[in-house]
Amino acid sequence: MANKNPAEYTIDMGPMGPIGEGAALMLRVNRNCPWNQCLFCPVYKGKKFASRSIAEIKRDIDAILRLADLLETVSGKMGLPGRIKREVIGELIRNYSEIYGEYPVNVTREQWLALQSLSNIANWLIHGAKRVFLQDANALFLKPGDLTEVLRYLKKSFPTIDTITSYARSKTSAQRSLAELRELKEAGLSWCFVGIESGCDDVLDFMRKGATKKDHIEGGQKLMGSGINLAAFVMPGLAGDDREPAQKHIQETIDALNEIRPTEVRVRSLAVLESAPLYAKWKSGEFKAPREDRMVEELKILLEGLTFDCTLETLQLTNAFTLKGKLAAQRETWLEQIDRYQTLPPLEKARFLLDRYLYDGYLTFVSSWGKNDFRLQAMIAEAERSLEEQSDDAIGKVEQAILAIKSKGIP
Ligand code: SF4
Repeated sequence: MANKNPAEYTIDMGPMGPIGEGAALMLRVNRNCPWNQCLFCPVYKGKKFASRSIAEIKRDIDAILRLADLLETVSGKMGLPGRIKREVIGELIRNYSEIYGEYPVNVTREQWLALQSLSNIANWLIHGAKRVFLQDANALFLKPGDLTEVLRYLKKSFPTIDTITSYARSKTSAQRSLAELRELKEAGLSWCFVGIESGCDDVLDFMRKGATKKDHIEGGQKLMGSGINLAAFVMPGLAGDDREPAQKHIQETIDALNEIRPTEVRVRSLAVLESAPLYAKWKSGEFKAPREDRMVEELKILLEGLTFDCTLETLQLTNAFTLKGKLAAQRETWLEQIDRYQTLPPLEKARFLLDRYLYDGYLTFVSSWGKNDFRLQAMIAEAERSLEEQSDDAIGKVEQAILAIKSKGIP
């Protein structure tokens, strides 16, 4: 007989996982970010970091097992032995009102939290229970022995798991020994996603990244040396709009990446978010927000400058182009695509960029969050009008509208 307490079917959950983790279980091994100072990042601002104990994390894994069993029971009763499908979830919610309330009208806070957990866990089970993402910002912050124990317990509880991923900071990776990282790899940690952002110490210092180029290289090389796959996130635009610092930023970034030779490079062009501390620096003139052309130029230099082969992607919608593939095979095609853009007449470039941010999902996302306010709508209308009239200020108006769209959030 199942325990009917909602807490027994609830796990702790953080705010986010990276692009590509849609099929993964979100398992929280610590709360928020232990650094939390990067100027461009709003995600955990105002939230205090807290480690979770091994006992707490294991309790969550046990709750996942309990829920998986319950789903299987319901699935069996529906004549779908062991198969977790959408209709099984609906049936579970209807049959277990002690856990989930009278959804959607009469639900307590505890039951609502159980529903959130159900959505996370059932989605994972539907996708075959293969991939797990360890939340929040830096899972490697856990003592290596503790994390190893958690990984082993997780894989023992769910032998279907084939991939475990997490964010990690370079500084923390650099502080771990190669033997500790190898043990984590053997226990199941498959990928670390590391926000390198820049290889330029001036930029890292200004942005309060809390890591130097040397830390990035040391941490990255150790991860790669341990056999853990490394996805290095880099950020065109992070040095602002002036040509010289921007070129230094991207060259130093290329240099760091060429030393690390990560498995994957993920490009995340800067969006100056109104919820991040960098926004005030932009508005006060202390930081010059980069134009799209500056970031496209940096992307081009990056593609030309990497001397190793890897997977490279620019899937986040803050990038003017969406690219994904093996660098060596795709480089020429991608560079031709960028060249074609760069040789367009200025107004056609502006049209291309405005369409990119209006119609490829960015504005839909902003609207779905209720942030497409009258000021933003007026800026977009102004950009459209000036483009139509081919007025002298059209390119500036388009840039302003794009910066405003991107300041609202990141899809
Ligand atoms: S380390 Fe990552 S999560 Fe933490 S503040 Fe910096 S960018 Fe944000």
